[in-house]
Amino acid sequence: MLGRCCRKVLVCDAGRPRNAVSRALHGFLSRDGINPMQLRHLAREELNRYPTVSFRESEITDAVETADGFDVHLVDGVRLQAGYLVVATGVVDKLPEIDGIHELYGSNVFHCPYCDGWEVHGEPLAVYGDGTTGFEYALELTGWSKNVILCTDGGVLPSPVQLEQLGRNGISIRPEPIQRLEREKDGMMIIWFRNGSGLMRRALFFNPQQYQASPLAAKLGCTITEGGVVKVGKFQQTGSRLFVIGDAARSVQLAIVAAAEGAEAAFAINTSLQKESIC
Ligand SMILES: Cc1cc2nc3c(=O)[nH]c(=O)nc-3n(C[C@H](O)[C@H](O)[C@H](O)COP(=O)(O)OP(=O)(O)OC[C@H]3O[C@@H](n4cnc5c(N)ncnc54)[C@H](O)[C@@H]3O)c2cc1C
Repeated sequence: MLGRCCRKVLVCDAGRPRNAVSRALHGFLSRDGINPMQLRHLAREELNRYPTVSFRESEITDAVETADGFDVHLVDGVRLQAGYLVVATGVVDKLPEIDGIHELYGSNVFHCPYCDGWEVHGEPLAVYGDGTTGFEYALELTGWSKNVILCTDGGVLPSPVQLEQLGRNGISIRPEPIQRLEREKDGMMIIWFRNGSGLMRRALFFNPQQYQASPLAAKLGCTITEGGVVKVGKFQQTGSRLFVIGDAARSVQLAIVAAAEGAEAAFAINTSLQKESIC
């Protein structure tokens, strides 16, 4: 968007997107089901159309606010000056410590039903979480399937009132500690419990803990909420020349939302630059 405003822009990307393990990106209008890497490739190609936009596969290790912008340090020792900085560095998900979960993340293990629920709707599903974290999530998933089991992995059980509500909604509980996850035939998976029993499911959903993928926003003085994301104002602004967009600043973490926030920030930056230049 800034390229379309004839602005000089450098995009620095370390190339480790959060959804790298995913096979298909859903819910991005006109690109539903596209491989996430293919979407990135298409986006990079589109940038070539705009001569004022350049791309560098590099990590920003530091950014220091100056009187008229930022002094930006790249990992390869290069230092650059920028009038405005848009931080779009994303978050990192902390997966539960279960054997096999990393191998199945993106195919049978998911964190977001808005992203991957439709592909498994009506199928046997499991929710990972204890009475606190899993209770509401299990109820939420009944929008996608009436066959949901809450696996509490030896953690805190839901209260009697919660158990009753789960039961009313057709959700049963497996309280045993989980041993490992294993891929099965026909796209299914087995949740193996430590007592030796197994539970066949199409998918397991969990609610990840998250942390910022980069310390940049915090270092630049941004407020990080309890949920681990950056607090932003109108147009994603956090300072007079600083913007934070995408998962790093959002509880609704979807690619199309991240893209829209980029457009919002670009709009605000271009408006500001226009004000600076018109005499
Ligand atoms: C398994 C999985 C499946 C998902 N499926 C969907 C889906 O179907 N539909 C959907 O809409 N969303 C989905 N999401 C969410 C989606 O991936 C995110 O909402 C989206 O990627 C957010 O974009 P972002 O640019 O904020 O962050 P990211 O895509 O994570 O990109 C951040 C980029 O910044 C780079 N970076 C970090 N620090 C630095 C630094 N210091 N210097 C330079 N570069 C840096 C990273 O390397 C990375 O390339 C899924 C997520 C996961 C984990």
